[in-house]
Amino acid sequence: MATQPVVFRNGIVLTMDDQHTVLPKGDVLVVDGKIAEVGVGLSVPDGTKEIDASGGIIMPGMVDTHRHMWQTAMRAYGADWTLTQYFVWYYLQHGMKFRPEDYAAGNLISALDAIEGGTTTTVDWSHGLRTPDHGWAAYEALKSSPGRFVFAYGNIHVSPWEWTKDPEVQKILTASRDDAAMFGTQIAFDVSDQDEQFPELEAYRAAEELGLRVTTHAGVWGATNDWGIRNAYDAGVMKEGYTYVHAASLSQDSYLKIAATGGNVSLATESEDTCGQGYPPLHELRKYGIQASLSVDTSVWQSSDLFSAMRATVNADRALEHYLAHLKEPAETITHVRTRVEDVVDLATRGGAKAIGKDHLIGSLEKGKLGDVVLLKNEDSPTWAPLINPYGQVVYQAQRGDVHTVLVGGEIVKSEGKLVAGDLKSVRAKLENTVEYLEKEVGDEWVSGQYPEIPEAEVLFNPYQYKKEG
Ligand SMILES: [Zn+2]
Repeated sequence: MATQPVVFRNGIVLTMDDQHTVLPKGDVLVVDGKIAEVGVGLSVPDGTKEIDASGGIIMPGMVDTHRHMWQTAMRAYGADWTLTQYFVWYYLQHGMKFRPEDYAAGNLISALDAIEGGTTTTVDWSHGLRTPDHGWAAYEALKSSPGRFVFAYGNIHVSPWEWTKDPEVQKILTASRDDAAMFGTQIAFDVSDQDEQFPELEAYRAAEELGLRVTTHAGVWGATNDWGIRNAYDAGVMKEGYTYVHAASLSQDSYLKIAATGGNVSLATESEDTCGQGYPPLHELRKYGIQASLSVDTSVWQSSDLFSAMRATVNADRALEHYLAHLKEPAETITHVRTRVEDVVDLATRGGAKAIGKDHLIGSLEKGKLGDVVLLKNEDSPTWAPLINPYGQVVYQAQRGDVHTVLVGGEIVKSEGKLVAGDLKSVRAKLENTVEYLEKEVGDEWVSGQYPEIPEAEVLFNPYQYKKEG
């Protein structure tokens, strides 16, 4: 069924095309699910829905290249965790307790969460699929949700060289791969053991045989490191378009190998900032010319929108630049920052599209691309006046509540600031059931799991006193 054409009128248009063309007062027309025209004072077909974008910013739908959607069922639970606590909770103690329906509930809420925040395409890094039933449940949840999803299939409970060869898993992978309703399928696994035999090679081979890309957490302090990159490179299985998530604690040699093989890096800066994977490596990626994109990682810890990801990324990069300059002998002062707000808007849109190999379809507002469009506008918010620098507005002023309208393939999924696609009420009911079940399964640790012990801190003796003694 053809959707009604939609035109956005008189907004600041950030096209995110190669030249980063900005129209100060432009229109974007979407017909039959695709962008029909971007320009000024466009004439439109009869029956086109008109959306007044004046006072707002029109930008491409954002792209998240690594989100563990199932973990949204435990939203905010681990906000004070380190990576170690995360591994213990999900990998060793409680991840295996999730039933297929719990897995689906997480995916369903995360999907609505993504589109409501202006993220129209998400790579679901689905790494808790311990049975094929979990796999089907995760896949069906994505298929039934509004938005575009790349299903990155994984299973942390079984070795990757085993589950990737399981015929029942391969059935799901090929179903998803050949499904026009999906936006892609990937194989998600990590190389975490320093085993001389490099058994993960079999998982790389399985991906090749299925014609699927690999996404892998690489360069995670204490978990995955140069070892995995070196082995994969020597075996010739690092392919163009593969995604290395975090890539935060790698040597120059590993970055060179990622660059040489056409790999890309998914930065989850809020995650890297707080959990200990390593310093967010945008400064390193720049040195080697590696394509970067942004990601949320997991809402068991971090926020679930790319506004937060953009802000965290620009802040981390600038903080490091100043800090390293101040440490120099003699100390230096940075007078011009390198990473611009425009750069991180690019990472959140074009960067993500390039990372998943869909740059010809999404990531910019250009004629012929899919009609994934976001309007940011909030007349009730003082933060939207004045509106002067649009990239600055998007990165440092806007937030998800300012997402006024979202189109996915020309279909309106958010309108006038309200989610209008999916069934939030029924998803909430499913989540209630899941949380009730998990609380019972986790038992006594349910509360303490959220509040890890704080290491003792010693306050230094301070020689400067307000009052003199005596
Ligand atoms: Zn991750």
